[in-house]
Parts: sequence; C-alpha cells; structure tokens
Amino acid sequence: MRTAPSPIPPIAWAGLFLGAGIVSGLVGLLAGLWGALGSLVLAALAVAILAWRSAAHWRARRTILATPFPEAWRAVLREWCDHYNRLPEALRVRFEKDLRIFLAEKLISGVGVEVVDELRVLVAASAVTLSLGWPEYDWEQLNEVLLYPDDFDRDYEFGADDLSGQAHPWGTVILSVPALCQSFRDPDDAYHVGFHEFAHLLDLEQTRFDGIPRGFDDAAARRWVEVREREIPQMLRGESLLDEYGAHDPVEFLGVAVEAFFETALAMRRNHGELYELLAKYFQQDPAAWDDARGLTLERPSRPRPPRPKGRTGRSRPRSRLSA
Ligand SMILES: [Zn+2]
Repeated sequence: MRTAPSPIPPIAWAGLFLGAGIVSGLVGLLAGLWGALGSLVLAALAVAILAWRSAAHWRARRTILATPFPEAWRAVLREWCDHYNRLPEALRVRFEKDLRIFLAEKLISGVGVEVVDELRVLVAASAVTLSLGWPEYDWEQLNEVLLYPDDFDRDYEFGADDLSGQAHPWGTVILSVPALCQSFRDPDDAYHVGFHEFAHLLDLEQTRFDGIPRGFDDAAARRWVEVREREIPQMLRGESLLDEYGAHDPVEFLGVAVEAFFETALAMRRNHGELYELLAKYFQQDPAAWDDARGLTLERPSRPRPPRPKGRTGRSRPRSRLSA
C-alpha cells in the first residue's frame, strides 16, 4: 500500500520536463539541427524556471523555521490539542514544524470572525494532525480556510445548526468557530469538525470526492471498501463507535472514520481493528500506541481536559456535512 497522498515535488516536475525536452530534441533532430536546438533550449528554460521556484520555496521554508517556535502557540497546543500532547517528543517537534509551515503558506480568513492566533493554531493543528506522518506534505489541494462565527445552512446563513463545516472540491474549507472549539474541547467523543473537513480533502481526485483515501493502491482501496461495507450495518444499528452519519455516503464514511481514529484510538483499535490498521498505515501514525504509552486505558480514561472555551456551551453534537 502506498502510504501517503504524495504531490509531485517540483524537482520531479523538472525531471519530467528535462525528459520531455530530450525526447523532443531527438524528435527535432529528425527534423533538423535547428529544430533540435530549439526544443532543447525550451526544455532547459523550463527546467531553470522550475529549479529556481523550487529553491525559492525551500529557502522560504528555511526562513520560516529559522526562529524558535512561538511559546504562545505552544501554550495553545498544550491546552487544547490532545493529539499534540499524546505524541512522542520527536513527533511533537515535527508537529510544530509542520504547523508553522501550514500557517505561513495557507490562507485563513474570517467571515465575521476575527482570526486571532489561537484560532489559526487550531485550524493548522486540525490539518497537521492528519498529515503528521507524511514528511513535506503541503496540502496543495487546499486553497483557503474560511472561519464562520456560527453554524450555517445551505444558503450560508448563520445561526442554523445544519452545517458546522464544509469542504469544497475546489479547495475551500469552511469551519464554524464554535464547532471547531467544541471539537478540541472534547478530545474523545469521535467528533472533530476540523479532522472531518480536512479528511475530505484527502480523497479529492481531480475535482470530486470518492470516499477512498488518495494514495491507496488498488489492493488497499479494495480492502477499504470491504471493511466499509462490513462497518456500515453496525453503524446503522447504532452499535458502532463510528457516527451513523457516515453510513449513508462513502465520502462521509471516510470523514467519520478519521474523526474516530484520532479521537477514540484505543476503542477503535479494539472494536474496529481492521479499520484502525488501515488508517494507521495510511496516516503512518499509531495514536492508540501513544495512548498506551501515556497510561490511558479504555477502562480508565484519564486524559486531561482542556479548559472550556468562552461562548456557547452544552450544544448538541454538531453535524458536519459535505456540500451537495
Ligand atoms: Zn463530511
């Protein structure tokens, strides 16, 4: 099984262009010396531009990481982000690095919301939780995150509790701020609007979602479908850790499974072992093992709870849906 959706790095694009240039040069050779030279010059130009862009990209990242990780951001992660707190030290360092790169490279905008640093960190932590096991993964399919002040309906009117998040095939993710805070506040209820919406972007093929994580090879995709078909009847009977919301649509199954994998890792490993194993290989992460290491058990859940955020409390479990 391929383990990660891997965008083609710029250097690979450069190699492709170089190869294309050589081929076109050979073809041009058949048409004459000037044809071959023209093709090679064009190919060399393309390679130079790509190499320059690639170097600029890595220089920018080095600059981003040149200063110490902001202590205020670390405090937010410690207070709010259970996944960060469960990680071994080396992965926690990588989490911080990935989070900084995400925040430097991705656009997060508020719609009637002031996008304070704490919110930016929670958005980035949602995405980085999923991509932590994939070095250099850069969420290329994400164009913008929009933060809404409340849940919303299908006409994007605030106040309805119809939607708490949305992922669009063109790369826009919408998150309701109260739902995002609720997601981090309760780290083991298998609900997390951030994980859910970013998980949708992981099965984005061209401009559509298909419910199978990008990067699965044929065998893994077949196994994913078999496991899904076995899980769905339990979900419909309400006998699953996975929210029944994911039983009606393969795309939503993936989102719901990812939420449960990160939020209820020990129970997922025990009750949905095959699904847990598939997701652990896919994400290259083993959250249940990390929960073991910090002494958590299913019988004695003892993870520290973060402080309750200001604002709405006691709201019912919000739903997160994909736009039609
Ligand atoms: Zn969804």
